[in-house]
Amino acid sequence: MSQHFSGSLFMVAAPSGAGKSTLVNALLAQEPTIKLSISTTTRQPRPGEQHGREYFFTTAEDFVARANAGEFLEWAEVHGNYYGTSRLFVEEQMRAGTDILLEIDWQGARQVKKQFPQAAGIFILPPSIAALEERLHKRGQDEPHVITRRLLAAGGEIAHAPEFEYVIINEEFPVALLELSAIVRSARCRFAQQAARNASLFAQLGIHAEQHE
Ligand code: 5GP
Repeated sequence: MSQHFSGSLFMVAAPSGAGKSTLVNALLAQEPTIKLSISTTTRQPRPGEQHGREYFFTTAEDFVARANAGEFLEWAEVHGNYYGTSRLFVEEQMRAGTDILLEIDWQGARQVKKQFPQAAGIFILPPSIAALEERLHKRGQDEPHVITRRLLAAGGEIAHAPEFEYVIINEEFPVALLELSAIVRSARCRFAQQAARNASLFAQLGIHAEQHE
């Protein structure tokens, strides 16, 4: 079924403090046709976060009920809170041929890959542990005990980097952005995506998409 979709599915994971959201936001500004999936979470909003923009915020009770009803394509407990991706959103956008980006952790990426094997997994690494720590403190949005918990968890997240196809080291932001953009561009040139997007050209040229391995 996956081969019929003309859109690409990207999953971006990183330990907190690797600069993932800044990179993703810069990519989306450059590539406005990519849609970011807004996750649902039980974590408290940070100052400045808006319901429906960064996340859909909800209670644990509501989250669990929806998870049990199968509303999430994937969900996981991360840093003591639940996070999940809307199945409806992803399936609708995939059917419409839209490129979608999921900012999820390794547990979620694993679940998505089982359902959409062609999903591209991208892992963002900090240039050093010291840089990671500094970024978490500078962000200043979390309580010290939350920062400590996230630093401890960073090691756990990083241990799963080998499960991802692509790795970006976010040392120099413009370079990291260029690399992320290159991954997106190359995914769009995959045979299946090109064939689905340019069906009449392929037909005119006598290319038989079904022969593609
Ligand atoms: P934060 O609380 O800093 O926004 O996110 C914490 C972690 O949860 C990040 O690693 C982020 O990628 C992950 N996360 C956010 N949304 C989802 C989701 O829908 N599913 C999963 N599995 N992880 C998510």
